[in-house]
Amino acid sequence: MHHPATEARRSIYYRYQVFAPWLPSAHPPQPRHRVVIVGSGPAGMVTALELARHGVASVVLEAELQVSQGSRAIVFTRRSMEILQQVGVADRITANGLPWRFGNSFYRGQRVFRMEAPRDADDRFGPLINIQQQYLEQYLVEACLAQPLIDFRWGNKLVDVQQADGFARVAVDTPEGPYAMDTEWLIAADGARSGIRSAMGLQMEGASYEGFFVIADIRIDLPYPTERRAYFDPDWNRGNTILMHREPHGIWRVDYQLPPGETPEDALRPESMKQRIDAQLAMIGHAGAEWEMDWCSVYSARTLTLPDYVHGRVIFTGDAAHMLPIFGVRGANTAFQDAQSLGWHLAFVLKGLAGTALLANHSAERVGAAREIIDEAGKSTRFMAPPSRGFRLLRDAVLSLSLTQDFVRPLYHWRTSRPHEYSQSALNSAGDDNALFTAGPGRGAPPQNVRLAADEFLLDHLGGGFELLYFTEAPALPAPLQQVVASARAQGVPIRVTAIGAAQPVTGADLTLPDADGHLRQRYGVQASGAAYLLRPDQHVCARWLTLDAARLQAALNTALPQ
Ligand SMILES: Cc1cc2nc3c(=O)[nH]c(=O)nc-3n(C[C@H](O)[C@H](O)[C@H](O)COP(=O)(O)OP(=O)(O)OC[C@H]3O[C@@H](n4cnc5c(N)ncnc54)[C@H](O)[C@@H]3O)c2cc1C
Repeated sequence: MHHPATEARRSIYYRYQVFAPWLPSAHPPQPRHRVVIVGSGPAGMVTALELARHGVASVVLEAELQVSQGSRAIVFTRRSMEILQQVGVADRITANGLPWRFGNSFYRGQRVFRMEAPRDADDRFGPLINIQQQYLEQYLVEACLAQPLIDFRWGNKLVDVQQADGFARVAVDTPEGPYAMDTEWLIAADGARSGIRSAMGLQMEGASYEGFFVIADIRIDLPYPTERRAYFDPDWNRGNTILMHREPHGIWRVDYQLPPGETPEDALRPESMKQRIDAQLAMIGHAGAEWEMDWCSVYSARTLTLPDYVHGRVIFTGDAAHMLPIFGVRGANTAFQDAQSLGWHLAFVLKGLAGTALLANHSAERVGAAREIIDEAGKSTRFMAPPSRGFRLLRDAVLSLSLTQDFVRPLYHWRTSRPHEYSQSALNSAGDDNALFTAGPGRGAPPQNVRLAADEFLLDHLGGGFELLYFTEAPALPAPLQQVVASARAQGVPIRVTAIGAAQPVTGADLTLPDADGHLRQRYGVQASGAAYLLRPDQHVCARWLTLDAARLQAALNTALPQ
């Protein structure tokens, strides 16, 4: 019998809600489900919400009765906010989070590098915003509970999976005992320690770095703006790095590396934590300042991924699929992109709009993203926590030179997580005019947002299906293009047309954006009528043309929906 904790987790700033468990005796016998998602972390919930946006129902199994312990991921990127906007929770984060865009690196009491994340007037969201993961999960839970297509089951722990021909049979344990059900697809979003991954005996590729880091969330009043602060090689923790971040509700994240040989148990002893946090506060000029501990934990940096995320009827996503270093805000931010991708790929397969080749494409694209992150994050990790004497020598040379030499300072750059560009995707149209454009988002890239009015942006209007952005001043979309769109719709493919550039509504378009000052055309690198972009349901560009005709559009749709 599975007995999840029924006592609310402790926190000095967050009130945990304990939900009632879903009990099988209170529900009719289970038919076969289309999708069962294991785990209601960021990956599981965004996948469920994305599937629902595409009209696909899912069951979400969550072993616990409340959202996760501690702040965990606290920094969310612009692309994450754009994805969260699609599933309806971005406004809650904007209203309650702390936006920021500067990072500072300190060495020997001197600020040696200041990073500025670019902010563009065309972006609805700032580059980075801090909010504790409990809030993010709470907003997602509320969105899931309000969505009739999501059957959310608290206190339901998956204990076994057996794959059969065309479905998976799962065993689930609850506070009143086990039950079984079948599902066409099982999404393993059960986190870094994925029991499903272990039970299936799957091996991850990559590396684990030596050394541990402590994460401590403390309540303290510090007179600093919301900016990232990194302290390299401080006197009280020689050779190591300390990070500090402001979180909402007067909480500061202090993140420090442990000396070699120290165990996590020793590091988390209250006396040890107090001594180190006091030393850090003293170093930054706040000796004796009062503070209170909210939550602490230990982690080690890993750069691991499964080489394939689809195994029969089981699909891995989020931390269950890969374990990435959290430097450069890569944990939850990567999970959102995984979930957004999985949502539409799986929905289109389930609706019969494409064959399972589409799922192979999802896996290839997201494994590619994980490998790119591993490469980039590995560089940051080696700078923060040099894994060998050679790396330490190099890092120390940069540190000491940076006191006097401007040219080495950019080496501190922290390589913040950025959305992966699917430039090698099998869904991209090889015969388009991508190479002829001199501006605008390239094939495979996420879209460029554009401000249309004080509080209206291009991306507010996009999402949910394929989007054809057609640049024209003519009163109507050419009839052959209208026919291709109509025939795609007749087959069930969701596709919308946005006409850009005409003063009057364009016949055949779902929406017309006048673009009187030509700004939208300029951001998309368009100089003449007849140009177009085709965006996939995750908003990434899969084709762009200087001149679009019906044959080219039909070919692009065929490529993007392999049968
Ligand atoms: C201590 C710590 C600190 C972190 N700090 C940061 C940070 O500073 N920045 C950052 O970007 N990321 C950070 N992360 C990573 C970030 O929290 C994860 O990347 C993110 O939560 C991944 O989301 P996920 O949905 O894949 O997995 P998770 O959030 O781990 O969710 C998995 C869910 O599955 C449930 N589950 C597991 N097994 C079962 C089962 N058998 N049946 C049913 N349910 C099950 C779990 O209860 C959990 O709710 C941190 C993680 C940890 C652990």
